[in-house]
Amino acid sequence: MTATLQIKNLHVSVEGDDELILRGVDLTVKQGEIHALMGPNGSGKSTLANILMGNPAYDVREGAVLLDGENVLDMEPDERSRAGLFLAFQYPVAIPGVTLANFLRHAINARMKADDPESKGIPIPRFARMMRQKMTDLHIDHSFAGRYLNEGFSGGEKKRAEVLQMAVLEPRIAVLDETDSGLDIDALRIVADGVNALTGPDMGALVITHYQRMLNHIKPDYVHVLYDGRIVESGGPELALELEEKGYEWIREKHLALAEV
Ligand code: ADP
Ligand code: MG
Repeated sequence: MTATLQIKNLHVSVEGDDELILRGVDLTVKQGEIHALMGPNGSGKSTLANILMGNPAYDVREGAVLLDGENVLDMEPDERSRAGLFLAFQYPVAIPGVTLANFLRHAINARMKADDPESKGIPIPRFARMMRQKMTDLHIDHSFAGRYLNEGFSGGEKKRAEVLQMAVLEPRIAVLDETDSGLDIDALRIVADGVNALTGPDMGALVITHYQRMLNHIKPDYVHVLYDGRIVESGGPELALELEEKGYEWIREKHLALAEV
């Protein structure tokens, strides 16, 4: 069955605050589709990513998020992952002493044990083989798996770790928020190459980005523009080109003109 992530009339505020950041977002992402969510700074892109990740700093005021009809908002982060959602965290803290390989093996084992309490987890040789294959496919140097998670990682290396995690967990739908600062072109490229390598019939993606240039590397099937907490434009790849050419100002003008009618 094709996995479907449905965001319906989603209204979100900061926890305990009445002011809405998202004011009715509707978006459906299916396995096999690449959607880009773009928008100016402050439009609410990261807030949407945070809600999908289950960040308790935000409140859902109205609306729903469903994966194959199941309420995602009721699920713990690990349940979301087991249901087939991948939510790229930026892992702000380094974990000295835990290698990337061990981190990923534990993630797989935790998932196997949740599915079957009797499971002994993935045998290490099988895990090692899989890791080598995935790293080869993604052009990641094999020594990378032996590094301590995020310790001293550059922006690009953090992105590499994120993409490798996505490859290993094999999500049905991946959500990636490319935060608007500190990502150089190499880091963007790593994410783009990873998304391109992993998407296909088995994976759908919602790529959240401020950068039009991201879409020079990822070819989205659909492009949406978030403005002031709502999706105000949706289209195909040509919409990204239009944004590239004209910036976000015309969106603002169009939105203001509509608000006056
Ligand atoms: P984007 O990712 O599109 O730049 P954000 O979702 O980060 O936008 O922010 C949207 C708006 O919500 C901004 O005005 C921002 O200041 C506000 N906001 C987001 N998160 C918080 C928070 N935790 N506390 C207070 N305000 C927030
Ligand atoms: Mg953001």
